[in-house]
Amino acid sequence: MSKKVLIVGGGFAGVWGALAAARLLDQQGKTPADVEVTLVSPDPALHIRPRLYEPAPETMSAPLLPLLDTIGVRFVAGSVAQIRTGAQEVDLIATDGGKLRLPYDRLLLTTGSKLFRPPVPGLEEHAFSVDQLADAIALDRHLAGLAALPDTPARNTVVVVGGGFTGLEVATELPLRLRKVLGAGAKISVILVDTGEVGAGLGVNPRPAILEALESLGVQCLGGSGVASIDAGGVVTASGQRIDAATVIWTAGMRASSLAAQVSSSLDPLGRVEVTPDLRVVGADHVFAAGDVARALTDDQGHYALMSCQHAIFMGRFGGHNAVADLLGLPTLAYRQLFYATCLDLGEWGAVYTEGWDRQVKLTAAAGKDRKREINTVWIYPPAPDRAAALAAGDPMFTFG
Ligand SMILES: Cc1cc2nc3c(=O)[nH]c(=O)nc-3n(C[C@H](O)[C@H](O)[C@H](O)COP(=O)(O)OP(=O)(O)OC[C@H]3O[C@@H](n4cnc5c(N)ncnc54)[C@H](O)[C@@H]3O)c2cc1C
Repeated sequence: MSKKVLIVGGGFAGVWGALAAARLLDQQGKTPADVEVTLVSPDPALHIRPRLYEPAPETMSAPLLPLLDTIGVRFVAGSVAQIRTGAQEVDLIATDGGKLRLPYDRLLLTTGSKLFRPPVPGLEEHAFSVDQLADAIALDRHLAGLAALPDTPARNTVVVVGGGFTGLEVATELPLRLRKVLGAGAKISVILVDTGEVGAGLGVNPRPAILEALESLGVQCLGGSGVASIDAGGVVTASGQRIDAATVIWTAGMRASSLAAQVSSSLDPLGRVEVTPDLRVVGADHVFAAGDVARALTDDQGHYALMSCQHAIFMGRFGGHNAVADLLGLPTLAYRQLFYATCLDLGEWGAVYTEGWDRQVKLTAAAGKDRKREINTVWIYPPAPDRAAALAAGDPMFTFG
């Protein structure tokens, strides 16, 4: 009987986890007859969540089966409903509706995160989002359908709730998207609403670039005001202001996958599990976690990984490597990710690229946009299904260049 490594979740952490697991098995001369690696996810494709604010979201995924085949990782299409850490098995609902139980010797949990929707009246029924592929496709179709509606201020107005990273990327992309749908002459209005100051969470350094971009694109900022309710015709803010809008997009807040709570009772406010330096879930034998479900220290300065794909990819590599290393009795590696950068897309203005936890601005406008394009079309995509290249991409010490 082969030993079993089970990876739950086919996002950034899961895919790079699979590459790293396969790489270490290859290095150790092990075959699937010795150790079988299985990846479970609803869809055999990596959904490129960081691009879901862009037009044509239906194109934002990368097929996984050729890649997994090349590295000898089995794919099971389904959604895990229950993890039993005592029995070392998971129950899943297969995509074809069947029920399946899979045993494991080591589990890597990489089920990511979802948009947090607080109990604001009307949010569930009337707000769009760009959180998951289906959400972004629904928004895109809605925007395309606006052209068929009578030309009113409400039709031409979009309220984006949440002035953080995602809200800023959505809001600054919208003027161009709306003009394409409604025509160059339409009097469009994009309003970014935040309980605090728009963009404040990104720190003081990129702020001037963000404000310049918002102003040049005509995006209105309504800081210091939450949204109290949403209906089919718009929103009412906490201060009682009514904004008529045919489109409301919620971007505020993320929460880790609910499976995190099945493997640990030690969760942070975002619902992430505590992990040891080698990404082992505290209190759960034989379970590792990576990506948005894990609260992991990146360095000795007290910086924790953010819910970001750059952290998910790196953590995934360490998690996949360590799950296999632990199974084979090899030393595990402490997760470290000393380089941290952000690249915030700001629509037609360009983008702002920063480095370091204090977000020192390195590139702005068109130069920033070139970097963002490279990140969004190359860096965050899985490698081609070439075995040597794919295994190399799973190296926990991998760096570009
Ligand atoms: C609009 C937007 C813009 C963003 N921009 C950036 C950016 O510029 N830079 C950046 O670094 N990050 C960005 N992010 C964040 C980034 O997308 C996430 O941090 C990243 O996707 C996390 O990777 P992950 O592998 O942990 O989880 P995910 O990518 O969420 O993958 C989770 C996987 O688990 C699967 N899954 C979930 N539940 C189950 C289950 N029960 N059983 C089996 N499988 C399951 C899902 O289908 C999915 O395949 C952005 C996110 C959004 C939404």
